[in-house]
Amino acid sequence: MSLTINTLGIVGAGQMGSGIAHVCAAAGIEVRLNDVNEERINGALATINGNMARQVAKGSMDEPARQAALGRITGARSFDDLAGCDLVIEAATENEEVKRSIFVALCRALPPETLLATNTSSISITRLAAATNRPEKFIGIHFMNPVPVMQLVELIRGIATEDATFDSARAFINRLGKTLTVSEDFPAFIVNRILLPMINEAVYTLYEGVGSVESIDTAMRLGANHPMGPLQLADFIGLDTCLSVMQVLHDGLADSKYRPCPLLVKYVEAGWLGRKTKRGFYDYRGDKPVPTR
Ligand code: NAD
Repeated sequence: MSLTINTLGIVGAGQMGSGIAHVCAAAGIEVRLNDVNEERINGALATINGNMARQVAKGSMDEPARQAALGRITGARSFDDLAGCDLVIEAATENEEVKRSIFVALCRALPPETLLATNTSSISITRLAAATNRPEKFIGIHFMNPVPVMQLVELIRGIATEDATFDSARAFINRLGKTLTVSEDFPAFIVNRILLPMINEAVYTLYEGVGSVESIDTAMRLGANHPMGPLQLADFIGLDTCLSVMQVLHDGLADSKYRPCPLLVKYVEAGWLGRKTKRGFYDYRGDKPVPTR
């Protein structure tokens, strides 16, 4: 039997965790937000508060709804605080070892009926499910960034995912007013299988000196009608996440066309991860983004 999601746990209060908390609380779901770094929880609450205030200013939310939604989000200091949740979504750093250890610890803290999901951009759902004691209650729910703005959610079954789990996840996404698409469990699923090689190619185009940051982004915005240039988008996603997805594609599909560009590796090694660290292909520390190459 499928389960109605009234209380949601989120592990990882970064860009995605805070966005998921925002839309779920606005849809009437109780949210418990966890992060290994407590400052990230406070940062996420402040971000959500600010983003909802902007929605009120634009007229897409009223003030009582904002107050009610904010009241539905609480910080969870430990996984034990997530024990009453119907579903826990993991939205931590894109690293398989980190995610596996989170699921092992979550399974110790949660009752057996709690559903588990991952927001991974690329890692095998079946492999992550195998780290749990309930692979039939495990599913990939892949939100897009920024969650309050983007309409799509990809749903990915692992090999053992039960229909009831799939149905619960589908009803949950419908309640958020999002549109879902179903992907098979292959590296990076649908959106990132197509998007990330394009971004990686844009970095190669920069690396080989075919164009500057500005000319590459302008070319794709005005020449292919993309709302953002690929390097601007890479900064928005996070260059560490972009590199991880390329590594998963390269390892998982064993095709050299997915080789991560060395310049992308260099930016990540420098800690220039894009907007979240204020520097990537653009420098965001001033009033206006300035290309770094
Ligand atoms: P982020 O770097 O903004 O946030 C990751 C958070 O995870 C950090 O706050 C970090 O402290 C926390 N974390 C790390 N280890 C943890 C642990 N053991 N327990 C609890 N929290 C832990 O990253 P993000 O962009 O929010 O990405 C999160 C996930 O969502 C990744 O799997 C990523 O691939 C996926 N995703 C990202 C995007 C995007 O565009 N950025 C889009 C869709 C999906």
